[in-house]
Amino acid sequence: MQEFSLIERYFHHWPVGRHAPHLGIGDDAALVTLPPGYELAVSVDSLVAGVHFPLDCAPEDIGFKALAVNVSDLAAMGAEPAWFTLSLTCPQAQPSWLEAFSAGLREAAALSKITLIGGDTTQGPLTISIQVLGLVPQGQAIRRSGARPGDELWVTGTLGDAALGLLHWGEEHPCIARLTRPVPRTACGIKLRGLAHAMIDISDGLASDVAHLAAASGVGIRISVADLPLSPALGRLPAEQAWRLALTGGDDYELCFTTAPNSQQVVHQVCHPIPVTRIGVCEATGGCSFYLPNGQAWLPGRGWEHFADKSPYEKAETNAPPI
Ligand code: ADP
Ligand code: MG
Repeated sequence: MQEFSLIERYFHHWPVGRHAPHLGIGDDAALVTLPPGYELAVSVDSLVAGVHFPLDCAPEDIGFKALAVNVSDLAAMGAEPAWFTLSLTCPQAQPSWLEAFSAGLREAAALSKITLIGGDTTQGPLTISIQVLGLVPQGQAIRRSGARPGDELWVTGTLGDAALGLLHWGEEHPCIARLTRPVPRTACGIKLRGLAHAMIDISDGLASDVAHLAAASGVGIRISVADLPLSPALGRLPAEQAWRLALTGGDDYELCFTTAPNSQQVVHQVCHPIPVTRIGVCEATGGCSFYLPNGQAWLPGRGWEHFADKSPYEKAETNAPPI
């Protein structure tokens, strides 16, 4: 299949999301117009086969997740998803793979009401690079750097499920969907404008992502491990194993944010129906520390790091389909 007919067949003429571009796919560049008073939030993330997803991952799930993790970055800024571009590198133009991949991608796009406005298609080892463009009222984006000493630290949903799903890869397990089909917390992120002082999405594990927020804000953070929100599946594990997964397992795509002290009631109201849990406090000095209910400090280890860690997905190579 020629590059042009591939684009025409699988990526053109998709439904328009919340914001139509001024000019979409088909020219040398797309054109977008920002509504007055808004600024553009821009983020890009690449997913490499065998590094960010197992080689035997279903193409629908690869398509879905590639976009969802990018939209999660917009959510973490309090931005509304508007447009995205797709750079697709794949070993060959296999129709069944492309059909399934584009269906998963389209499903994620429909959920986030975001519009595909362009991209690039090349041959090579499977890599999906997506750039998302979001809209946020000027000056209202929620940065990592706004936390203050005394702030309370919050997290949406539950933590560690995707990591538990990975431990059960290849089996039937309720947590596998948390790994393959992350749902970005877009509405919650937008509603937290003006309330959250600082925010980050959790992609590499709470322990390492919260450290980025602490460093950017110049505060210390104390986390009470017994307060970490756990799903029933994690709740059935020995406590220390569950906490370790919750703190260092990646791929949660929950939001972690800080608010002024004593804002419990309004935080729950604003985030409703998404459950939120207060897990710690910000302090004037020090890095991030984790405490047991008896007041003893506890070390969870660290989250995933590129260049330092071997990907957990490399071991899944044996069942890889010929893509
Ligand atoms: P150029 O050679 O000018 O870069 P291309 O032939 O790569 O243009 O792309 C033609 C049009 O198709 C452009 O509008 C581009 O944005 C779009 N496009 C290419 N690949 C993809 C893709 N994988 N998904 C969506 N749009 C794509
Ligand atoms: Mg091109």
